[in-house]
Amino acid sequence: MHQQAESSPGNRVSARAALWPGLAAVLVLGLTLFELRHQGRSWWCSCGQWWPWAGDVWTLHNSQHFADPYSLTHVLHGILLCGVLALAGARLPWRWRFFLAVLLEAAWEIFENTEFVIQRYREATLALGYMGDSVVNSMGDVVFCALGFMIARYLGFWRSAVFCLVTECLLLLWIHDNLTLNIVMLIWPMEAIKAWQMAH
Ligand SMILES: [Zn+2]
Repeated sequence: MHQQAESSPGNRVSARAALWPGLAAVLVLGLTLFELRHQGRSWWCSCGQWWPWAGDVWTLHNSQHFADPYSLTHVLHGILLCGVLALAGARLPWRWRFFLAVLLEAAWEIFENTEFVIQRYREATLALGYMGDSVVNSMGDVVFCALGFMIARYLGFWRSAVFCLVTECLLLLWIHDNLTLNIVMLIWPMEAIKAWQMAH
């Protein structure tokens, strides 16, 4: 009885501590969904087929279904955000850092799906005919980022670093693209890389 009386208030506090960051994250997801629709993004792939996974990045299904190889780059976002926020927000409870990671990723999805960035992607990368991610795909990206954050917490620094490196190499071989190239090609498009990406 004594044990229970002591642990019970503690459980209540930790349940409440978990509740607010979780609710805030769900609210951010809802607002992001609203904003993406407002920016003119479609709900789902124009193909109308409901499979959640689109494995071939060289088709119009890419970035239109729930998950595709690029989802892995969003897992990496989560791992990196976990590390950066652990440094920058060391005094925050980890659940609020988790919320911040979701907020930042959602903001990135909104930015990534503005007309300006969509045009830039279209010119600079292999994403020919790219009309922006579907709303469901963007939601998936934020969820995969949240997953990455939790993976990083579970793995710790060095194993997370290895995880990132292996994933980047796998993506390079698999789809001729990865997070590093994604950033490089967005900031400083290079013809040689583009040609290699197109010659899959
Ligand atoms: Zn499709």
